[in-house]
Amino acid sequence: MKVNSAEIVISAVRPNQYPEGNLPEFALAGRSNVGKSSFINKMLNRKALARTSSKPGKTQTLNFYLINEMLHFVDVPGYGYAKVSKSEREAWGKMIETYITSREQLRAMLLIVDLRHPPSKDDVMMYDFLKHYDIPVIIIATKADKIPKSKWQKHLKITKETLDLDPDDTIILFSSETGEGKDKAWSVLGSFMR
Ligand code: GDP
Repeated sequence: MKVNSAEIVISAVRPNQYPEGNLPEFALAGRSNVGKSSFINKMLNRKALARTSSKPGKTQTLNFYLINEMLHFVDVPGYGYAKVSKSEREAWGKMIETYITSREQLRAMLLIVDLRHPPSKDDVMMYDFLKHYDIPVIIIATKADKIPKSKWQKHLKITKETLDLDPDDTIILFSSETGEGKDKAWSVLGSFMR
């Protein structure tokens, strides 16, 4: 897809702050530092629309991006920071659970993982959580440029096995550095918008 416009429309915490209307929506989750902001920026052809490496301790919000007046991306705060307090973690969990269970516009969750390493315990928990609520998941295995092409298939296999990936869920190998996987990602999102 050719992105002509992309802007952040709101940072929301509560459902009454979510944007109105019926545009299809895709939420993005991942461990802090996994490359989620870089993924968003690459998909939207922007250098720094999504802030890379946002620090913990700040207000945790769901950031809604409006793209081509056609769809929303929802940036979910990263998880897995060791230093986050129990109450912050709980607030995060509540916010994401409320969003997932109430948002009818949500077509699929993009779960960003690092292709180099097996998904973490937190990644597996997040995946199981989404499956529990019957949310379609698209796995984005990013940082592919950091390993040789000859090892991609092996790493994809480990990622699938570690998550116990549902055969209905798609996995896409990605690199924000080279743009590998970008066209495929847009085409998969397109299939969820029809
Ligand atoms: P976030 O915390 O998940 O939003 O992660 P960022 O997008 O801020 O990325 C964390 C770090 O990984 C940054 O230094 C990025 O430049 C780097 N990074 C992200 N994606 C890629 C990628 O596909 N390839 C490479 N080589 N580095 C990446």
